[in-house]
Amino acid sequence: MHSMDHFLYRNGVLHAEDVPLTEIAASVGTPFYVYSAATLTRHYTLFTEALSPLPHMVCFAIKSLSNLAVLKLLGDLGAGMDVVSGGEYRRALAAGIPGNRIVFSGVGKTRDEMRLALTHGIRQFNVESEPELRALSEVATAMGVVAPITIRVNPDVDARTHEKIATGKKENKFGIPIDRASAVYAEAAALPGLQIIGIDVHIGSQLTELEPFEQAYKKVADLTERLRAEGHTISRLDLGGGLGIPYTRSNEAPPLPLDYGALIKRTVGHLGCEIEIEPGRLISGNSGLLVSQVIYVKEGEGRDFLIVDAAMNDLVRPSMYGAHHDIDPVIEAAPATEPHPYDVVGPVCETGDTFAKARPLAPLNEGDLIAFRSAGAYGAVMASEYNTRPLIPEVLVRGDQFAVIRARPTFDEILNRDTIPTWL
Ligand SMILES: *Cc1c(COP(=O)(O)O)cnc(C)c1O
Repeated sequence: MHSMDHFLYRNGVLHAEDVPLTEIAASVGTPFYVYSAATLTRHYTLFTEALSPLPHMVCFAIKSLSNLAVLKLLGDLGAGMDVVSGGEYRRALAAGIPGNRIVFSGVGKTRDEMRLALTHGIRQFNVESEPELRALSEVATAMGVVAPITIRVNPDVDARTHEKIATGKKENKFGIPIDRASAVYAEAAALPGLQIIGIDVHIGSQLTELEPFEQAYKKVADLTERLRAEGHTISRLDLGGGLGIPYTRSNEAPPLPLDYGALIKRTVGHLGCEIEIEPGRLISGNSGLLVSQVIYVKEGEGRDFLIVDAAMNDLVRPSMYGAHHDIDPVIEAAPATEPHPYDVVGPVCETGDTFAKARPLAPLNEGDLIAFRSAGAYGAVMASEYNTRPLIPEVLVRGDQFAVIRARPTFDEILNRDTIPTWL
């Protein structure tokens, strides 16, 4: 299962690569996120290998894990970046990614965000609506430049994933209906500030089957030929992200990047297009852990609660999507240990602050460290300071080195962001 990551027990202690998690915990305090450079590298490389020899670019979806150190690591390997806001665009630039490797996605790009990207360089905008086409053309024309675009089509396929992260059905807010593509491409071609270069599609996240991709990409292949026949240049296909990862040991394994690559070659490989993909979770998800400490073990009616120092504000996926994260003790349990069922909860004042119910774990005590697996994607990036709990640190490990790549803020820093008006 977690065979593609570098978080393994050695001498009875869970390590990130060559660093014991106990050492990081002693140095930075808990809770914290820790990422493995080797795992990030490996996952990125799996995609580039899967798409070779097609001309391609793997654009990492920054929204899944946006720390500058991670972006620099991937950027140095040649990765492009998929951004969904001006803030993410700035992160990509700050990490040293040139504009011509940055793709701008998202349904609500503002004119300011368009200007920012056109000023510093952009590989393409993935445009999601007709009003956005008109706005982008206006902004580009006023700046005396031409904006390279794809148009995101909504292929109306069921991604068979969690409803909050399915994006490819016609009732979702994303893209233009594929039936209307001819009309919308004709409109784009007539606008002075735009240059059409391709088609974009992204049907959802955490897909555990290839079938929905196959349906979507076949529709994109047909559309490519139709739009070409209508006189448009289609030289690049952005096929989105969304390949799922295993979150549990027992899960049947989701498709591998290699099989996904073969599917891409089979469905759109004959078109002579440059292929772009935007994976987030598959690169970052199993590259990170959330490490937390047990504050109390509270014996309850028919169940025991493990009250830990991480909470829903640090990792919201369980309370937001009902998501499962495997939990492992940092100090490995003795082989014959009988597991004990725990409700694993955080200190936040909401019942929703529950990571797991009746989870069988080796018996744990106050002060013990635990690790939530598969927490690299949509973990730190979705964190908040609810309950005035400081954003937790992020740590990057490479080999036997580790560094804090985002420090825990002090309470003074947090309180100083607020201002009490003089008239109060
Ligand atoms: C969220 C998103 C991605 C990344 O999705 P993953 O499931 O993390 O691979 C890629 N492209 C777009 C447009 C997205 O919204």
